Amino acid sequence: MTPNRLLPLAAALAALFLAACARPAEDAAAPDAAPAAAPPIGGTLVIYSERRYPFLEPVFKAYTAQTGIRIETRVDGADALIERIAAEGATTPADLLITVDAGNLWQAAERGILRNIASPVLEANVPANLRDAEGRWFGLSERARTLMHVPERVDAATLSTYEALAAPEWKGRLCLRSSAKVYNQSLVATMIERLGAEATREVLKGWVANLAAPPFADDTLLLRAIAAGQCEVGITNTYYLGRLLQEDPAFPVRPFWVDQGGAGVHVNISGAGVIAHSDRPAEAQALLEWLSGEAVQQQFAALNFEYPVKPGVALDPIVAAWGEFRADPVDIAVAGRRQAEAVMLMNEAGWR
Ligand code: FE
Repeated sequence: MTPNRLLPLAAALAALFLAACARPAEDAAAPDAAPAAAPPIGGTLVIYSERRYPFLEPVFKAYTAQTGIRIETRVDGADALIERIAAEGATTPADLLITVDAGNLWQAAERGILRNIASPVLEANVPANLRDAEGRWFGLSERARTLMHVPERVDAATLSTYEALAAPEWKGRLCLRSSAKVYNQSLVATMIERLGAEATREVLKGWVANLAAPPFADDTLLLRAIAAGQCEVGITNTYYLGRLLQEDPAFPVRPFWVDQGGAGVHVNISGAGVIAHSDRPAEAQALLEWLSGEAVQQQFAALNFEYPVKPGVALDPIVAAWGEFRADPVDIAVAGRRQAEAVMLMNEAGWR
């Protein structure tokens, strides 16, 4: 994170965002949703989105108010959306694809459904390691995946790296989410990039040997298990903790920023790309550029307690309270490039 990330949000602005957003679980299935009708003076952009509508509605409404362009959102899982766009081919109504996890964006680019965009605005606003080198996708928010603990029970001095949790001293103390979740696949993909396959395989075996409970179905359950004392340490995305702290400021779990003397915290993205067969690629690009701007970045990240990709943008106060950290600067395209290898190693290690 850059040093000037910690400016607090204006309290009134934060209250507005918090009140406006119900924050349902992003992993849950969601029906399609569309904004209320707006004057059709600017035409319509169609967004296929893995992000659920409550995370998008406030920013899309603002865009419609500014431009007159209506936005229709169709929500589904990333795999389903990618298949749908590929099957629709030249007849697709989609103009923009929004997903979580760089692994999903990488897959979409590999399928040839995203357009190469050259945009000085996006290149200035989105750090190079959080966008595709060929301009097919761009990060819109950062999501940190790090260690979680109750500081009063597990001293931060005993924590260091992801790898260190493979040591025998952690036997019966570690909790993980399922290996089926792309967040873990992306984390492991970056570990393979950094440590090599052999060393990563050993780490994963150590993690599995140290599990206090079978892998959890989602990060929120894992955080609750840490709070309840079932697990001493786990690995989750920080925004799930943000949601729990919003519900209950006394929730005892806190992030530990991993490997601050080394590679740093694994950071993934939510992001978007313009559809190759969009009928309105210039308008879709303009929306993407607008989403990368300072004011929208602040709001977009705060809606789900994430981090803006654009350096220097203010954080939600709950997020700011966790302090600054060094993020792993790895090219996040690795999450896609090494995903198959990561899944293989996770299976070999017996991580269910
Ligand atoms: Fe999530």
